[in-house]
Amino acid sequence: MNLASQDPEVFAIIEREKKRQKEGLEMIPSENYASAAALEAAGSILNDKYAEGYPGRRYYSGNVHIDEVERLAQARALKAFNAEGYHVNVQPYSGSPANLAVYLGLLKPGDTIMSLRLDQGGHLTHGSPVNASGKLFNFVFYPLDAEKEVLDYDAIQKLAEKTKPQLILSGFTAYPRKVDFEKMALIARSIGAISMADISHISGLVIGGAHPSPFPSTDVVTTTTHKTLRGPRGALIFCKEELREKIDKAVFPGMQGGPHEHTIAGIAVTLGEALRPEFKDYAAQIVKNASILAATLIKEGLKLVSGGTETHLMLIDLRPFGPGRGVFVAKALEAAEINTNFTTVPNDPSVPFYPSGIRLGTPALTTRGMKEKEMVVIGTWIAEVVKAFATTPLPDEKEKRAQAVRDFEKTLEGHETVKKIRERVKALATKFPVPGIDA
Ligand SMILES: *Cc1c(COP(=O)(O)O)cnc(C)c1O
Repeated sequence: MNLASQDPEVFAIIEREKKRQKEGLEMIPSENYASAAALEAAGSILNDKYAEGYPGRRYYSGNVHIDEVERLAQARALKAFNAEGYHVNVQPYSGSPANLAVYLGLLKPGDTIMSLRLDQGGHLTHGSPVNASGKLFNFVFYPLDAEKEVLDYDAIQKLAEKTKPQLILSGFTAYPRKVDFEKMALIARSIGAISMADISHISGLVIGGAHPSPFPSTDVVTTTTHKTLRGPRGALIFCKEELREKIDKAVFPGMQGGPHEHTIAGIAVTLGEALRPEFKDYAAQIVKNASILAATLIKEGLKLVSGGTETHLMLIDLRPFGPGRGVFVAKALEAAEINTNFTTVPNDPSVPFYPSGIRLGTPALTTRGMKEKEMVVIGTWIAEVVKAFATTPLPDEKEKRAQAVRDFEKTLEGHETVKKIRERVKALATKFPVPGIDA
């Protein structure tokens, strides 16, 4: 029995989400659309199999075909990333447990890890005090250059020599510039630390040649599979051969039981797509689109963190309007069906829950087939919304803030600017297919 007839309630929710995806613009830089083929594999009967262990060494019987699919995913991953001489584990459930598995596999609790300050573009799993990483390990943070808002490799080298971390982490969640992974690996080597790159955001760009690769300089590389790589939600851990046993043991039995082989099959399909020559064009177009979008926003008078982008994402710096305006702009853009997220900017004068920036990017729009022409149009719309709503002040009194946001949301309902932009967004968006829905 199919979903529509057996469970119309869940079916209807999915249909409403399809409509939302089709009629809006998805500009959260960590989101993308998996292909229909990848979703078909991820939704397949492979879901039903227990396969604790690794290919050829399972704790359950009946894994002959599961071994085939996992080995295929591994071979394609190594090929797609040109990661000769590396081992890859394709079992992590997602990016966060993959990172924790690396820390637990290669370090002892209490060891020192060096990473980018979280409010300057680092990820939750890179040492936030509310995350297991920050509870179990001693993190020291390198800041961005205060003026240029980019990595300062000399300062990182100095801090590494002073604090002697066991592991140095690069790869970020809200950093618009290219990362010199080779330089980061050299810094780690100079003090005898492990180098780790978390390329969750940019892995599609790395495969497509649109961003420098962390291979072969970096000891350990983690990535999610659902961001610029545009596959099912999961993660990969690459490591130098000599770290293989530690990494594999850390994932299973260290962190996880049975791997999600249906997801791994979907990831294999995605990696097969990423190995095709067209994927290079996709990666190049993402970056081209982002640079045109950034140029449009700047031309409209907005300020971007670090002055622009070299990747798939950018951060609008709303500080010129006053502190803590990100939430208002993100809500106004959402009401116009342009999805972004509010975020901190380097040295944000506001608090993390009401930060002063907006993070947005082009991977999902590029998957739908949008190009330079659409970026100029969308950039103009975004700038209009920003200028109309970033002027809303955030109350100084802590206890008044939530109510101010609720009041603000009410004013959006009949707002002329929102209505006008939403209609234009819908007319544009519905011209571009969403993979997995329309194809
Ligand atoms: C998204 C992201 C992760 C976490 O991935 P989840 O799949 O959401 O757990 C880890 N590191 C970086 C840099 C990311 O951007």
